[in-house]
Amino acid sequence: MPMKETKSTCCYCGVGCGVVIRSDAKRIIAVHGDPDHPANFGRLCTKGASLHLSSGHELRACYPELRRGRNETRRRVSWDEALDHAAGRFAATIRAHGPDSVGFYVSGQLLTEDYYVFNKLAKGLVGTNNIDTNSRLCMSSAVAGYKLSLGADAPPACYEDIDLARCILIAGSNTAVAHPVLYRRIEAARAANPSLKTIVVDPRRTDTAAEADMHLAIAPGTDIALFTAMLHVLLADKLIHTEYIRRHTEGFDRLKWAARECPPERAASLCGVAARDIVTAARWFGTSGASLSLYCQGLNQSTHGTHNNIALINLHLATGQIGKPGAGPFSLTGQPNAMGGREVGGMANLLSAHRDLDNPRHRAEVARLWGVTDVPSKPGKTAVELFDALREGEVRAVWIACTNPVQSMPESTLVRAGLERAEFVVVQDAYRNTDTAEFADLLLPASSWGEKEGTVTNSERRISRVRASVPPPGEAKADWDIAVDFARRLGARLGNPLAQELFPYSSPEQIFDEHRKTTRGRDLDISGMSYAVLDSQGPQQWPYPSGVPVGLARLYANGVFPTPSGRARFVVTRHRPVWEASGGAYPLQLNTGRLRDQWHGMSRTGTVPRLFGHVPEPVLSMHADDMAARGIKDGDSVRVRCVRGELVVRAESSAEQRRGDVFFPMHWGSRFMSGAGANALTVSAFDPYSKQPELKHAAVEVLRIELPNELIALRRLVPGDWTPLERLQSLLGRFPLAALSMFGEEHACVMLRARSDGPFEIAELDRTLGDDTLRSASYEDQARGVAKRIWTDANGRITGARLSGDTTAAAWLKEQMRNAVVVPPGLALAPRPAAAGTPRGRIVCNCFEVSEADVRAAVAHGADLQGVQRSLKCGTSCGSCVPQLRRLCLKDSSVSTAA
Ligand code: SF4
Repeated sequence: MPMKETKSTCCYCGVGCGVVIRSDAKRIIAVHGDPDHPANFGRLCTKGASLHLSSGHELRACYPELRRGRNETRRRVSWDEALDHAAGRFAATIRAHGPDSVGFYVSGQLLTEDYYVFNKLAKGLVGTNNIDTNSRLCMSSAVAGYKLSLGADAPPACYEDIDLARCILIAGSNTAVAHPVLYRRIEAARAANPSLKTIVVDPRRTDTAAEADMHLAIAPGTDIALFTAMLHVLLADKLIHTEYIRRHTEGFDRLKWAARECPPERAASLCGVAARDIVTAARWFGTSGASLSLYCQGLNQSTHGTHNNIALINLHLATGQIGKPGAGPFSLTGQPNAMGGREVGGMANLLSAHRDLDNPRHRAEVARLWGVTDVPSKPGKTAVELFDALREGEVRAVWIACTNPVQSMPESTLVRAGLERAEFVVVQDAYRNTDTAEFADLLLPASSWGEKEGTVTNSERRISRVRASVPPPGEAKADWDIAVDFARRLGARLGNPLAQELFPYSSPEQIFDEHRKTTRGRDLDISGMSYAVLDSQGPQQWPYPSGVPVGLARLYANGVFPTPSGRARFVVTRHRPVWEASGGAYPLQLNTGRLRDQWHGMSRTGTVPRLFGHVPEPVLSMHADDMAARGIKDGDSVRVRCVRGELVVRAESSAEQRRGDVFFPMHWGSRFMSGAGANALTVSAFDPYSKQPELKHAAVEVLRIELPNELIALRRLVPGDWTPLERLQSLLGRFPLAALSMFGEEHACVMLRARSDGPFEIAELDRTLGDDTLRSASYEDQARGVAKRIWTDANGRITGARLSGDTTAAAWLKEQMRNAVVVPPGLALAPRPAAAGTPRGRIVCNCFEVSEADVRAAVAHGADLQGVQRSLKCGTSCGSCVPQLRRLCLKDSSVSTAA
């Protein structure tokens, strides 16, 4: 089949890298970085470079499915039946209980055009502001911080500022892991300018922290104390920019007094770092001439996240480090289009083009632009509030698009309860097997990356085109298309004669054109931008008003801010502890975050075996002293307990952890482990300004538990049919501790590791691992509690294996299955086959499949980083593993894996 190349944008993080997709008429074959895209200049990280491997259809939702009663199974229906039913249910609910009895929960992974239609549907047609998004969980504190301090939700800096900075302060971000391509740029800036100072503020000694000139390992939640003490030093050392403050800001006097109350010594005792380090950090920041801050969830996911942001922005305003090359407070967005969602006002408190819901003039402008009589003034339910309202029966019907709140929201038990109580749940998703899809009365198949047309905006305000290279599977449709179709049907049911006119779109370009008109005269004016401009000139930053040749790289160069006075505002912030302080029965502090090679709830990355090589299973990272105090050894089973729930997982010591802190990755949910994942433990308390919940801190206790019996099950998957994976997923909850991972490139396989304190129920497991068409052999030694069974195909290749009592052959079996080797059954069942060799262990470099053991062996033979790279090629393609290679070459035994 003829091949074609399509330029698009990576669908993972907010760096927004350009990609080139190679495809034939039906399938995506390969992907590489777009050398012309200014976000990445051809680079991709491991996730981006594996995008083509995640484009299989095995777990995709391909047809609408509906159940009319809660006890029924969903059945396939036509789009007409699906959307007529949805329109009927929503209309009936609205008529009986009012527009606020329904809600929409959407996603920072939707395209701007999708977002625009959903926002208009809720606020313009239904008449409710009950539309919020998973972006509430990642960046709403950054939004509130920018608006309160600078007057508008607009990151003032750009990626080029990384090249030009002379001091980079990274706060609450493991950039090396969460924004890898940007981190490559930081590495390059450091190499080009050895005097560039980097400071990392993070409770954990992550890869990013370990490589910095200074790591301030503050106690969780003490960022405000640190930043205020830095301001204290800047004042004492006369490093503030008095002229800038006088001409371009307001409110400094009050802040000055607050800062004087927080000397470095006081902050040092709150933060748990040395006062002299705070002084040094402040002096580096204040004297560099170009100081740039990069920050992310560590600041945002807090009950005082808005003030965390503001305390940092205060430092920039006080030193005039904003609006000039190499300087500025730069919030890194987690999701690919959290920015686009903000631009169209797709949140419960926003309106189109950065307008505010509580501003009557703004509401009137939007109503006029949309051609409706008004936009409701009552604030909508934000993420946590929306699911609370479902649980309390205040909201009765909900439409969830492109997100998995059952896994990603804090206190997931409450979210489950909300969806159980809801009268009608619509889930619109590309994948049919998310934790949330379980609750869907109506499941609508959406097209996904590589199949969609539209735009996204990255962290530096750059709008890029997303383009389709292949058709979606089955009857899946673009998100905007589904929303438009529903809106028209709902309008008819509600007797709204305007519905057809409100949603006239037949292409995403028409939606973009309407959106850009709403921005005219606003801070993010893109009235001069169009698909044609983006196609001919490439991705562009906003603002991009009519008549300009290119977008604006950095904001506020003239010192004029979009506030009523034109001045930026200093806001007084004071230290407050985390919402749930550790102590008593729960003496440890749980932190949650990202891993390098997984994305959110793993619905996409969890289909790519390669992406499990780095961290195959979820483990709790602990400080060695905390483990010793509890009698826990590496690999032991532990119960992580808090007032809300518990998880049973394996524990490992990590030199990254402060004493008293533990870390668990956010990615694993009930599809890949026994238990609901990290959010079974997190708190839903939220920041009063941003309503962003405190996903980063929860008080827990960790106890060693005895689960002496371990079982490992392996199953090869047949392309096009991943039923065994789904069956194994359905069995996970039967084990006290269990995790699924994948391995194999050409021959994808799945591995289940389970632990129990009693004998395993194996009958159903065996039906999943093999069937009557396969040969099987088994070995049992009841005295030793050993039971093994393997299944082979007609060619003698292992298709499935189950080991309990003695799992020593698991690593060897994985290698045979990965390579589809023909194995005599006797050898496969032997306790430790002669050919077993050494297990390869964790993969560090995915591009060249280089393991930690390979690197250690090279280092033992005297290789340094360059030598390792030369001999093994690791770190020479995407570069995501370079920080870890550096650590291994320095013989630092702890390798960071998470953000
Ligand atoms: Fe995608 Fe990686 Fe670029 Fe983020 S850094 S946009 S995940 S390729």
